Amino acid sequence: MQKYIVQKYGGTSVGTPEKIKNVAGKIKSYTDRGIKVCVVVSAMGKTTDQLIDLARQITDDASDREMDMLLSTGEQVSISLLAMALHAAGTSAVSFTGSQAEVITNGMFSNAKIESINSEKLLKAFEKNDVLIVAGFQGIDKDGNITTLGRGGSDTSAVALAASLGIKDCEIYTDVDGVYTADPRVVSSPRKLSEISYDEMLELARLGAGVLHSRSVEFAKKYNINLIVRSSYNDVEGTTIKPKEDMMEKFIISGITSKNDEAKFTIRDIPDQPGIAQTLFSRLGEKNIYVDMIVQSTGKDNHATISFTVLKKDFKTVNDICESVKKELKASEVTSSQEIATVSAVGVGMLSTAGVAGRMFKVFSEHNINIEMISTSEIGISCVINEIYAELAVKALHKEFLEK
Ligand code: ASP
Ligand code: MG
Repeated sequence: MQKYIVQKYGGTSVGTPEKIKNVAGKIKSYTDRGIKVCVVVSAMGKTTDQLIDLARQITDDASDREMDMLLSTGEQVSISLLAMALHAAGTSAVSFTGSQAEVITNGMFSNAKIESINSEKLLKAFEKNDVLIVAGFQGIDKDGNITTLGRGGSDTSAVALAASLGIKDCEIYTDVDGVYTADPRVVSSPRKLSEISYDEMLELARLGAGVLHSRSVEFAKKYNINLIVRSSYNDVEGTTIKPKEDMMEKFIISGITSKNDEAKFTIRDIPDQPGIAQTLFSRLGEKNIYVDMIVQSTGKDNHATISFTVLKKDFKTVNDICESVKKELKASEVTSSQEIATVSAVGVGMLSTAGVAGRMFKVFSEHNINIEMISTSEIGISCVINEIYAELAVKALHKEFLEK
């Protein structure tokens, strides 16, 4: 039976003509073994950033439609060059833009969601070619406008293609050789995970370890696709992201992360009665503000204090809303801090192991780090601390859970 695989090469992997030729060689090593390859590529190197910068030199207020039109050109360069490199190497290949592959998305410019792909057309093209090259990150809406999927969206293009073509394995080639237990820039010798579950990967991404575009992992989970993260520079085995039922070994903790893209707000002494939280959070909702953690504590005399975190980029809008809510509800004060970090431990093994939170808090206390907020999910525990202690906390937690 004919074997197929989907491979995605990120911007750094196709950053120069030399690297593109190298990628062509890698792909050829598969077709030489009789495997047909559907390849998805990102734009070369920092192209997308450069295109954004070009637009800024024209206006600060470019329309979303024209931004997507502009950004989609980056991938059109890399698909054609890769096709040429494959042809030069004697491999049959044909390239497709998102619109040619009929990657149909909704009309949300700059953050579009894929709705369908013309798999019939692509499978037909596979009859005459060993390699199909599809531009990542882009599609068209039902009115024919070019759309893009959000930064890093080529991962999602690759997994969506695998799902639609019925291909089980999707390799994501990047500049790291897999998913690690912590950021190697912080922890001196983190371990590379040979496998990790979809849910852990999503949780790691949400909590700051951004190896893959999150939606690609959601897609892979939904369609049961084996996602493999590996390096385009060597043949080292990467990390496979798969259903947790298929995992050989379930670690209590598989990763420690930290992120500092959020700010914390506290509104003190608001009336402790029904409807108060709604006043505040519906107003944030109206402005499309993403609220991450929320903690409410009851004080004395029927008054409560609410703390919550939002993205730093929304700081000013949120501050204005808090000040107006403070006046209306006669709260005593609004305080805020942008110097916070959220440090988290993630692992499916947590589901069946008691005492993980206790061990985590002990590590903080031993290092005299004050925990300002705590939140938990099924497979993760996060603590908000002062950002100056973030590295120390990650190192100490890694030592506690992953170096013993
Ligand atoms: N070229 C796009 C970006 O830089 C898409 C991608 O790389 O996945 O965000
Ligand atoms: Mg990328």
